[in-house]
Amino acid sequence: GGNAAVVATAALARSKRRRGKAKPMPEDQAVYPAKDLCSRCGFCNTSLVGRVQEACAFLGDGMARLDQLEERVHGRQRNLEDEMELYFGVTVEDGVVPLQVLPEQRPAQRAWTGLVTSMACALLAAGRVDAVLCVASAAESPKKRLEPRPILARTVEEVLKCGGVKPMLSPNLLPLEELWQVRGEDIKRLLFIGVGCQVQALRSVEEDLGLDELYVLGTNCVDNPRDSEALQRFLRSASETPETAVGFEFMQDNRIHVKHADGRYEQIPVFALKEPENCTGVIAKSCYACFDYVNALTDLTVGYMAAPWQGGRMTEHQQYCVVRNQKGQQMLDLLAEKLDVGQASSLVPNGWSLPRSQLVPSVLSPELDLAFGRRRRREPPPRWLAELLSDVVTALGPRGVEFAKGSIDRAALRNLVCLEV
Ligand code: FAD
Ligand code: SF4
Ligand code: SF4
Repeated sequence: GGNAAVVATAALARSKRRRGKAKPMPEDQAVYPAKDLCSRCGFCNTSLVGRVQEACAFLGDGMARLDQLEERVHGRQRNLEDEMELYFGVTVEDGVVPLQVLPEQRPAQRAWTGLVTSMACALLAAGRVDAVLCVASAAESPKKRLEPRPILARTVEEVLKCGGVKPMLSPNLLPLEELWQVRGEDIKRLLFIGVGCQVQALRSVEEDLGLDELYVLGTNCVDNPRDSEALQRFLRSASETPETAVGFEFMQDNRIHVKHADGRYEQIPVFALKEPENCTGVIAKSCYACFDYVNALTDLTVGYMAAPWQGGRMTEHQQYCVVRNQKGQQMLDLLAEKLDVGQASSLVPNGWSLPRSQLVPSVLSPELDLAFGRRRRREPPPRWLAELLSDVVTALGPRGVEFAKGSIDRAALRNLVCLEV
């Protein structure tokens, strides 16, 4: 009896804490408050929609609010005098770490070595959280496997099924409504997995989520396809058999690696895309207004771009993470025995390479053509030349952390130009 009273009082306190209960927008809503720039993050499909002006990454001050949110979440803003923090956001000391899940510990379904999935499973198994908000596939068919369906996973098995990137906009905040409406009693401590625009909306209303504990684990994110049609259009440009593709990544060897349902990999030099002009409109407009590639408001962010290219498959390749605060450190420590952690210094490879300042302008121009739909029709070079170009740029171009900074420069500069016109 006493216990029930305590539980009921706690529930009441939580529901009182959650302010602003407006009517959620339906999922098939045609126009959202951020209009063209909306990344369909799911926030407006929850009863916190009334607070969209302060939460949305694309309204009002938008991502400029990252500065004050960094202060609120991490206790300080990133140090602009420190180039690592300037690019990667707030980190604990030596917080940018190369690592991978040990081969025998890797989950079957994963994008890279399954770091995100393994960390989420570890948190759940250790009883640190009651549920994980992560992204399942819409269905099992190869095409639907790449379409996102965010869920509240209560078991390790459910989290394991969410491994792998669903490369398109995903309404990750949507399941919060289910949490509040029907599962609030069971789920008081949550791990949220998501990308920058989703995490900004989440953090903006963190105090009013009605949770006792929130962990936030994220990935880097850039240039996300708008929807399934856009993704298929891109895959047709990149792959000989787009219908069997179950994953892809722009890798550090300047090739697009497409993973197929039968286990086969295609490796296409970025210079050999068929009809690249067909890719205009593939990337969501929100992603041309995004300045949070590194997901600055997570407790811990996972990515690949600062890990020096080692060859081979992405599912066997080293990744890196950015530990931003104590909760991020806890997540890393919890998984320690399943990890192969490298030396931070290995993220900065020895030897000469082209400075990124010399490469960024040459990649910016075709990027802007793509953004503005300018048709500069050209036949792709012969395949051997495209392969050679990818090899040369990989051998001479920036590597490791410099490669990552170059990617961030490219996206940020392009997006600044896009916002100005
Ligand atoms: P896994 O263990 O396979 O877990 C992947 C997790 O991603 C799952 O938990 C799932 O919930 C979540 N997820 C899947 N799809 C989405 C989605 N659409 N929105 C939000 N969450 C999702 N890294 C870079 O270094 N540079 C990049 O440019 C880059 N772009 C990315 C774009 C997207 C849309 C995503 C989701 C990730 C991107 N990443 C990028 C991160 C990288 O691709 C891997 O996700 C990361 O290295 C983790 O791999 P993993 O094997 O540890 O993940
Ligand atoms: Fe709403 Fe999210 Fe779209 Fe902004 S990005 S309008 S918060 S759904
Ligand atoms: Fe959201 Fe930015 Fe990723 Fe686009 S690139 S999905 S806006 S985090």
